Amino acid sequence: MKKFNKVLIANRGEIAIRIIRACQELGIHTVAIYAQEDKLSLFRTKADEAYLITGTNGPVEAYLDMDKIITLAKKKEVDAIHPGYGFLAENPLFAKRCEEEGIVFIGPTHEMMEKMGDKIQSKIVAKSVKVPTIPGVEKPITSDSEALEFAQKAGYPIILKAAAGGGGRGMRIVRDEKDLLKEFHSATSEATKAFGDGTIFVEKYLEEPKHIEVQILGDNHGNVVHLFERDCSIQRRHQKIVEFTPSLSINEEQRQAICKDAIKLAKEVNYRNAGTIEFLVDKKGDHYFIEMNPRIQVEHTVTELVTGIDLVQSQILIAQGLPLDSEEIGISSQASIETRGTAIQCRITTEDPNNHFMPDTGRLDVYRTGSGFGIRLDGGNGFTGAVITPYYDSLLVKSTSFSRNFEDARRKALRALKEMTIEGVQTNKDFLINVLQHPTFIEGNCDTKFIDDHPELFE
Ligand code: ADP
Repeated sequence: MKKFNKVLIANRGEIAIRIIRACQELGIHTVAIYAQEDKLSLFRTKADEAYLITGTNGPVEAYLDMDKIITLAKKKEVDAIHPGYGFLAENPLFAKRCEEEGIVFIGPTHEMMEKMGDKIQSKIVAKSVKVPTIPGVEKPITSDSEALEFAQKAGYPIILKAAAGGGGRGMRIVRDEKDLLKEFHSATSEATKAFGDGTIFVEKYLEEPKHIEVQILGDNHGNVVHLFERDCSIQRRHQKIVEFTPSLSINEEQRQAICKDAIKLAKEVNYRNAGTIEFLVDKKGDHYFIEMNPRIQVEHTVTELVTGIDLVQSQILIAQGLPLDSEEIGISSQASIETRGTAIQCRITTEDPNNHFMPDTGRLDVYRTGSGFGIRLDGGNGFTGAVITPYYDSLLVKSTSFSRNFEDARRKALRALKEMTIEGVQTNKDFLINVLQHPTFIEGNCDTKFIDDHPELFE
């Protein structure tokens, strides 16, 4: 067990800043990497050291170039690499390469990632431990006729999904036979483009489910705990926009059952570090495992606020080899994890809701955020004068409210959004305000079709 002196952050934007902050609080020296296009980005200035990754092809490649990142890590004598989310975070080869080079990868082992990061493989694991899954094929499908065969047996609607999928891409809902061929080809080509892997599978499509996920933490000594659920049902094109905890859609018995299944799955693969086990809950209240994300997630902030546990620091300490019940991590048992109040996260993006959420770019002429009691901000590159480029994800800042109950947290979230002034670049702020004021949201009862079903949110 060796305390890390230096950690390299193989990421950018808000999550890089989040990791830098965690390291600083732990007394760990931070090394950032950046692409030429990020020369003026905030995260770079927050690290103790920052290095330009040169000679890569385009703005994204710098964060994907395993050789260059590992060479730099060795040259700067870093103990560990934190991958954040996206980029190399779910790449088993990168985790393996780090291990081979004697650099600790802050995350699960490459074997766990291979098993649980793949949607088909992880469903097989779930089935083996009797965690419910959505009826579907157990192997990739390579032709539209295989999808047709499944649909004829299971009935429409069905959903085509990329095995390597993420961010809602490579997914197509098919409601009848005449659309099958077209959708099969577009799902395959979108998956190939987005993930370099066109592997597709098919399962039944659930109408209007809730998306409920469970935060997991496991150490390197076989201990696994859950940190309860997050309700991430408010989505646009299968991408989450507002997330909160606790969910108001499930009762205590369902909550216990879902968390128990999440633990069962994590224990089956001896999971270590932070991960999220995602479920859909249908109208009858039955839950089904859909996938596992073997990494930190964008919406981890809500869990931190209600449990008081710093997930990113826990990730780092676990990677150092500390057990969950160590003084530093401080989780003596599952029963010791208690939640208090409600937290709601809103993702403010530089997208124009009135133009199909097209990303907008340019200079932020004014950037003023809402703050005050009960508001946590996790910013990316927001400051007056910052330039929003078209090269990266459009997440500008996450505003997370925390209060004693859902209604109080909702009012705080709304107040913070109304207080925010951003000029020069379009954002989804007004759209989020409409979501928070909608009667279905006020009831805490949105399902994954909520945004599609309510065009008035765009007014
Ligand atoms: P990604 O990895 O791209 O985020 P997920 O498998 O986590 O994809 O699914 C994202 C969202 O897509 C879910 O929250 C849900 O809204 C929708 N979805 C996925 N599978 C199904 C399904 N079988 N039935 C209904 N909706 C689904």
